[in-house]
Amino acid sequence: MPHLQPVPLKVALLNTPEIELWPAALLRARSNHDARALARARRVLRRKRDGAYLAADLREGLLPLIPGLQREPGIEAALDALDAMPLHARNGLEHVGELPLHRLHERLDRLGIDEADYADRTSLALVAEPDWLAFAGVDRYRRPLWLHIDAARAWLRMHDEAWRDGVVLEAISGYRSHDYQLGIFEWKLGRGLSVDDILAVNAAPGFSEHHSGLALDIGEPDEPPAEESFERTAAFAWLQDHAGEHGFAMSYPRDNPHGIVYEPWHWAYAPG
Ligand SMILES: [Zn+2]
Repeated sequence: MPHLQPVPLKVALLNTPEIELWPAALLRARSNHDARALARARRVLRRKRDGAYLAADLREGLLPLIPGLQREPGIEAALDALDAMPLHARNGLEHVGELPLHRLHERLDRLGIDEADYADRTSLALVAEPDWLAFAGVDRYRRPLWLHIDAARAWLRMHDEAWRDGVVLEAISGYRSHDYQLGIFEWKLGRGLSVDDILAVNAAPGFSEHHSGLALDIGEPDEPPAEESFERTAAFAWLQDHAGEHGFAMSYPRDNPHGIVYEPWHWAYAPG
């Protein structure tokens, strides 16, 4: 779908391989030190792996929030993206590019996941992250919902139409980075699960549709998130009748060819 008009920079998350550039106004302070920096910052550089705040972009310059910022992996790409911001601020964002996948190959290797074998077994393909994401409101947990701009526009339209029909669609989760997915694996490995145990429930890092920003998990208020019982809600019935009109389809119906468990809550934007 063609972009309607450039998107203002202030409602965009700029993405680089290891670091995200967040609008400071959308972040919560975790300490008094953060609070003072956030109040004056335009952007905050945030490590994708663990969400740590690395630096604040202030009018007078970059304020490091961690020691050794210069040695932080990926800092150069993040600073390049920061340098490009005045241009985006003037022109807005329009074209969505993709980040390279090379770091992912190493990481899958380290987890002992054979990429080709996994892709073969699941018929899933590697999914690149977009180089920026659009703010699409907040999710159930009051976190910013980031989506690919095309999916963001379609989601907001669909959400409003459902609302007019008396149905509340609630976003549970939208864009997720490769690093975020990797973090899930590391956390579960730390709790004694094997890689195979984890793969039974979670897509391998790099293979989740959420990486593209085109997929989101949808729920209904007061219903448990991401449960099969979602298929018995009014929200699900509405989606079955109308999601297609908005370009959304359920990615993992029962007995899907990917061998992924039935996920009635997971919908992806793929107009066609
Ligand atoms: Zn999902």
